[in-house]
Amino acid sequence: MKTRIIFSERCLGYGIWHVEGPQRVKLAHEFLREKGYECLEPAPAEEEDLLRVHDGDYLWNLRKGLVEDSDTPAYDNIFELARLSAGGALLASQVCGFSLMRPPGHHVGVFGSALGVYTRGFCYLNNIAIAVKAFGKKALVLDIDGHHGNGTQEVFQGDPKVIYLSVHRHPHYPGTGFSSQGNCLNFPLPADCGEKRYLEKLDHALSMVVGKQFEVVAVSAGFDTYLGDLASLGLSERSYFEIGKRIAGLKKKTFFVLEGGYMGEKVGRGINQLLSGFES
Ligand SMILES: [Zn+2]
Repeated sequence: MKTRIIFSERCLGYGIWHVEGPQRVKLAHEFLREKGYECLEPAPAEEEDLLRVHDGDYLWNLRKGLVEDSDTPAYDNIFELARLSAGGALLASQVCGFSLMRPPGHHVGVFGSALGVYTRGFCYLNNIAIAVKAFGKKALVLDIDGHHGNGTQEVFQGDPKVIYLSVHRHPHYPGTGFSSQGNCLNFPLPADCGEKRYLEKLDHALSMVVGKQFEVVAVSAGFDTYLGDLASLGLSERSYFEIGKRIAGLKKKTFFVLEGGYMGEKVGRGINQLLSGFES
């Protein structure tokens, strides 16, 4: 069965002037509908779901519109929109689906900005962490966004139930993730390294979790590794098919949550390739 897409048009309602704008998800949704994917509508995450990951004061300030940085504006109603995006991740974890929602999440930590990084990198609530914490079982969080998920690392650092594994561009925003720390395994790559080197690194990274205990794979699925995108590693559409095959090779219950990817329809094409490789 084709992986189902979690989507709500409500997530298109903010930030039209921002690089993390609605077009990237709107075009992806249209492309995936044409390809025959079934879509499910999420419900907002509950307060108790958010509190498993985030500090209560941070949530209060976010709700009041008091948290803003140079990357991450305090849009009207952003707390509710972020709750809905987190709800997308929760639903994806329940149906083994792909949450095609925004805002993204992997740069935001327990108290907001994470690991000493100044901004939250377009993120308000850490969607994948909220889903993994709610699931409550041993998990591998596989972060294939081109940026290091400093927020996700902060949330899970030292957590015996979670392995965080990230392949990302370095040096680059947010500047973290140069080396591995305990349960957080980081695999940096230079800009535009290309598919061959990327897949060799991914294979090496995944070999590190062979024999480790986890029941679910939660994929932070970013597509800004595409050639020319914000964290380009020189990948092409076909590269995502190869990545999907490798995720399937882990042979575990798997769900996907959108992170970055800023080139409109290419996000949809990347998702289709990733899921086709995963299902092949
Ligand atoms: Zn990114």
